[in-house]
Amino acid sequence: MSLFDLVFPVQCPGCGHWDTPACDACLEQIAGLVDVSRDLPQLSRVGSDGGDAPLFPVWAMSSYEETGRLLQAWKARPSTDLDRAIGYRAERAAEFLPELLRWRPREIDFVPAPSRPSRYRDDTYVAGTLADSVARGFASAIDWSCAVTSRTLFAPRVGRQRGRTRRGRRMRAPIRLIADIDPRAIVLVDDVATTGATLDACWRAVEGSHIILGAVCVAAVIPPAEFHRHASGSGERDVK
Ligand SMILES: [Zn+2]
Repeated sequence: MSLFDLVFPVQCPGCGHWDTPACDACLEQIAGLVDVSRDLPQLSRVGSDGGDAPLFPVWAMSSYEETGRLLQAWKARPSTDLDRAIGYRAERAAEFLPELLRWRPREIDFVPAPSRPSRYRDDTYVAGTLADSVARGFASAIDWSCAVTSRTLFAPRVGRQRGRTRRGRRMRAPIRLIADIDPRAIVLVDDVATTGATLDACWRAVEGSHIILGAVCVAAVIPPAEFHRHASGSGERDVK
């Protein structure tokens, strides 16, 4: 324990446990990959059979109810300790991704979902950090030849402001690509999936130029019971 710790004692943001930037019990909620795409209402289209179908699979590592406080603390002040602790769990969880993909690409890009410009300025753009961790975990687990890249593809997401109606101001501008590159196979990476609206906007932005194989997020806003039911029902394993 350093002098700094004595003066400013650290506390796990998840449960309040003292003397740890994040305790093992809270971090271990970030485990395996569970497909939650059917729980994201903004991510579905009516299929040819008349039923709703998700645009692509979305794999979550946890239920937001169990890891939300940890993620909020990380986003508010991405300390080195939380970066390392959450990044490590995300990297281990991403090792399950290769076997979940429907095909084996020769090249794959891990692309963070865009955020507000202030997050890039303040260095609180955690999706960017996560994309690096997920790419590392994936690369360490593949058993075929594949070039793995962590790549920023979306411009910061600016909201519409001046000269708009109240409703127009609330609406967010569409997501834009910043790079004009050859078609890529992409896995989107984000910290939290709520309704799937951001992932849907990413899909619109790349439609016709790139292929989204799926998305990985640390937490999905679905009840823990539902999340763990998906986890046990799918046969996907937990990281322990
Ligand atoms: Zn804790």
